[in-house]
Amino acid sequence: MNKAASGRRVLWLIAAALFVCGALLVGIVWLRPQLSRTAQQLARLGVWFNNPAARTDWAVLSGVRCRPDAPMLMPTAGYIGFGWDDSFRPGHRHSGYDIFTPDGDVNRTPIIAAYDGYLTREADWRSSVILRHPDFPAIVPGEQIWTYYTHMASADGTQSFVAPQFPPGTHEVFVPAGTVLGYQGDWSGDPANPVGIHLHFSVVKSTATGGYANETDITNTYDPGPFLGVARNADGILVCEGAN
Ligand SMILES: [Zn+2]
Repeated sequence: MNKAASGRRVLWLIAAALFVCGALLVGIVWLRPQLSRTAQQLARLGVWFNNPAARTDWAVLSGVRCRPDAPMLMPTAGYIGFGWDDSFRPGHRHSGYDIFTPDGDVNRTPIIAAYDGYLTREADWRSSVILRHPDFPAIVPGEQIWTYYTHMASADGTQSFVAPQFPPGTHEVFVPAGTVLGYQGDWSGDPANPVGIHLHFSVVKSTATGGYANETDITNTYDPGPFLGVARNADGILVCEGAN
């Protein structure tokens, strides 16, 4: 290698190193607010699970209508530890509310229908149900939407906590708002990775053919806040708007 070529190579190496450092710096600055928010939410979850009775100011109650004009009832009791569009890892966007039990164990905290609807539990669903709400009158006039409720099974997935009157394969059974659908569990789909006892609740859009869209994609969901009358308080905690 002649002298000029080796000089060019050194320059290229320096440029590449500067580029990598710059990209890292941009990544850290961009991600830091989200990472610190996730860390704060995880810390609060630890506080909640340690002693829920000490943080009743963080809690929501099952079956309440948080605001007089909110269309939906609170579907369970607990602490809304993760909200819509929160993130558990870079690039992830959470599609609903995670409401963590105040009761310390699985199969204790009831989950109710947030609104009148038609219940489906697919044949292979051990922990989930979905309700169809045709001609939903509030917020989205005339549109059909769905509410989805999941994690209703034991950590190892062997025991379902969905109410027995809704066995796998149930389709289009009418349930009034307030009907008990099951109980909070911590089944994540992976026995090695239980999720912490909670309800995952999401408000799901319909597909063009009238079915439910894939709720794991946030763009197929609505923020449940306006439906439930929930908003963040001064500390960033999701509570009933009347409790702000
Ligand atoms: Zn969730």
